[in-house]
Amino acid sequence: MPAKLPNHDADEASLDEVRAVYADLAKRPVQRDCIRRTECCQFKLTGVMPLVTKGEVALMVKALRAGGRTELPTPKIEGACPMLLANGKCLTYEARPFGCRTHFCEAAGGPYSRKEVIDLIRRLESVDTDLQGEGPHKLDVGLKRMLRELKEGRR
Ligand code: SF4
Repeated sequence: MPAKLPNHDADEASLDEVRAVYADLAKRPVQRDCIRRTECCQFKLTGVMPLVTKGEVALMVKALRAGGRTELPTPKIEGACPMLLANGKCLTYEARPFGCRTHFCEAAGGPYSRKEVIDLIRRLESVDTDLQGEGPHKLDVGLKRMLRELKEGRR
């Protein structure tokens, strides 16, 4: 039987909390001007990759699977995020993780300061604990791990 994501009501409540964190972040009066230049999605170029907690990964994987995918796409640009499509769009933009929402490139106004969003980070960490995560992982590592667990029926 195929694995399900999330696998029980508590997980679904955790995912709702991640969505609520993203919604609360969007209400913050922090001026940024992201026009999806996509440089920040090219990790080899920037030398930086977002760190993600388990709830963030779960939302992304849910979006991927809703689109019929069970594997991580092969990056279209060498060293770029696997979610970055050839047309410059993000495959899971609505479910993109917190780091993609806050670590803006310099041209867009630079990253949020930690103190501006520390309460939201704490909430994501709390969800990670609830989901028995192991703290933040690099984006590609977190995604691969969860997809593998789903394939093996461990979730
Ligand atoms: S998840 Fe989307 S927004 Fe974030 S780095 Fe990947 S392509 Fe860019």
